[in-house]
Amino acid sequence: MSDASHSHGSSCGGDEGSDSSVPTTAAGVPVDLKRIERAVREILAAVGEDPDREGLLETPARVSRMYAEMFSGLHQDPRVHLQKVFTEKYDEVVLVKDISFNSMCEHHLLPFLGKAHIGYIPGGKVLGLSKLARVVEVVSKRPQVQERMTETIADLMVQELNPKGVAVVIEATHSCMTMRGIRKPGSMCVTSAMRGIFRSHLSSRSEIMTLIYNGKP
Ligand SMILES: [Zn+2]
Repeated sequence: MSDASHSHGSSCGGDEGSDSSVPTTAAGVPVDLKRIERAVREILAAVGEDPDREGLLETPARVSRMYAEMFSGLHQDPRVHLQKVFTEKYDEVVLVKDISFNSMCEHHLLPFLGKAHIGYIPGGKVLGLSKLARVVEVVSKRPQVQERMTETIADLMVQELNPKGVAVVIEATHSCMTMRGIRKPGSMCVTSAMRGIFRSHLSSRSEIMTLIYNGKP
């Protein structure tokens, strides 16, 4: 579980992320908080609640701020975090494991939480390790599906770094599966996207999967 190479969300970044404390805007695009508030009031009334009872008075405003935060990656370009590369002859696996994230399932607007593991073999360009967590943060803070999130991260890595190989594995639990519908608490959804040598060479793929899951139960 504990692992020297792991990182937890944005906490490993050395740079102070001042933008994450301003949930009302994302890259200059203001979130219409009042509109969300009206919609939440409407939902409460629609399910038969009284939006004006004391316990619910602040709820629309609270939910609007929460949505602004949960969707703050919508208008941010994750590529900015992949620009700062340095040239390095290193051409072995770089793996960052256990990047925790929380995202919103776009089918139910319920959270799914989990960990992303990103491995790559540089093709001359190496990335600052904290940047991978930044990319996960931006991509996860949108209405998402796990499959697309996995592929988006892999494709961004390919486009910006031109590495010899990229492997992205995401494990997550989906509230929409655990608390409603078929109700399967503890079930975990695993997705992977392999690019370059990890896609074409079975032995490379096995190697990265072993590195990702080594030491795990
Ligand atoms: Zn869902």
